[in-house]
Amino acid sequence: MKADVLIIGGGLHGLSAALQMARRGVSVIVAERHFAGRHASGATAAGVRTLGRDPVELSLSLEAAEDWHRLDDLVGDDCGFVACGQLQVAETEASLAVIAARIERLTAKGYTHERLIGPEEIRSLVPDIAPHCLGGAWVSTDGSADPHRAIRAFRDAGLKAGVQILEECLVTALERRSGNWQATTSRGPIEAKTIVNAAGAWSDQVALMAGDPLRHAIRTSMMVVTERAAARITPVVSSHGQKLSFKQTAQGTLLIGGGSQGKLAADRQSASVDVVALASSVKAAVRLFPSTGGVRIVRTWAGMEAMTDDHVPVIGFSHVVEGLVHAFGFSGHGFQLVPSVGRLLADLVCEGKTHHDLSAFDPRRVAIEKVAA
Ligand SMILES: Cc1cc2nc3c(=O)[nH]c(=O)nc-3n(C[C@H](O)[C@H](O)[C@H](O)COP(=O)(O)OP(=O)(O)OC[C@H]3O[C@@H](n4cnc5c(N)ncnc54)[C@H](O)[C@@H]3O)c2cc1C
Repeated sequence: MKADVLIIGGGLHGLSAALQMARRGVSVIVAERHFAGRHASGATAAGVRTLGRDPVELSLSLEAAEDWHRLDDLVGDDCGFVACGQLQVAETEASLAVIAARIERLTAKGYTHERLIGPEEIRSLVPDIAPHCLGGAWVSTDGSADPHRAIRAFRDAGLKAGVQILEECLVTALERRSGNWQATTSRGPIEAKTIVNAAGAWSDQVALMAGDPLRHAIRTSMMVVTERAAARITPVVSSHGQKLSFKQTAQGTLLIGGGSQGKLAADRQSASVDVVALASSVKAAVRLFPSTGGVRIVRTWAGMEAMTDDHVPVIGFSHVVEGLVHAFGFSGHGFQLVPSVGRLLADLVCEGKTHHDLSAFDPRRVAIEKVAA
């Protein structure tokens, strides 16, 4: 098998990049060891959030926010995106001060997407919220989507554009020969000019195979789904300083996440739920919405993805080997970035450049030599 580009990893970032490249006339193979969306992209809470982003991600995140509002044009489906808003509440004076300072810094830099709101406005947005919330940050154009619809839409749009998606295709070795990559896979050899490393929690292994050893940790964020609840919660709600993100689906079930970590298996291939850690997220949710106290939990899970020390992704050309582009380490907030990162990767591969400043995403900051030094 032969293509211009081999993308390793059929999560949303791999699929999004493949779609954008194929639409520019590049031949693309996506190699996915399980099935498209099997890992972080299928386990995600699917919050579409510019709120509280690290400023270095804002250019990508604000571009992606525009994409989410017209995703139908990109993939022929709105992916269940609803602009229900994202609200970050402050439960203490200290949290309120941190939020207010952040919004002041954003405003000074000319950003207007986050707005500081008071307790009355919070109660008008979420009438069931506990009375101790002092204020918060509000982005009305943020929201959430349906991750499985998104996976299907990006996958189908890619196939339509000519992307070859090889599922149950584990890449086990990479070798550079006469200016091309030769990949050894469980479905046979693949030759490509360029490789995109979008392997999520296994990106360090792909980087090592390619001769550019990079380092990342693995996040194992957990989620809870409850039975249908009477609560009336329209926006996605998080609480500053707490591992809590909370939303109510259209069916009435509650989806609780926010970064509580599960247990990583010793072989780094799977993660399981840590009930004790999860209980703290659930308690935080009930503290914020007391009316949800008796609601029963129906399902829990833990997803896996790569996490960097600064929680900022690694995106860009390898500085060590030619024809290798990295895109991993989204550290628990990569879902929202899917449309813009896909475009960026296509810009890099097809034109060799991007209008985004990639200095904060430089792979050299996670190079193993650098960490060891
Ligand atoms: C529980 C949870 C909640 C989250 N909530 C949010 C949220 O609300 N908002 C937000 O913006 N983000 C959220 N995220 C983060 C977001 O889901 C991820 O950043 C995003 O899905 C990462 O996509 P990806 O394509 O990089 O990785 P993945 O979807 O993990 O895809 C990587 C793929 O690479 C494959 N692979 C690895 N090695 C190989 C190999 N050698 N050969 C072939 N294939 C290989 C894997 O099988 C995997 O399918 C959450 C994540 C989790 C886990």
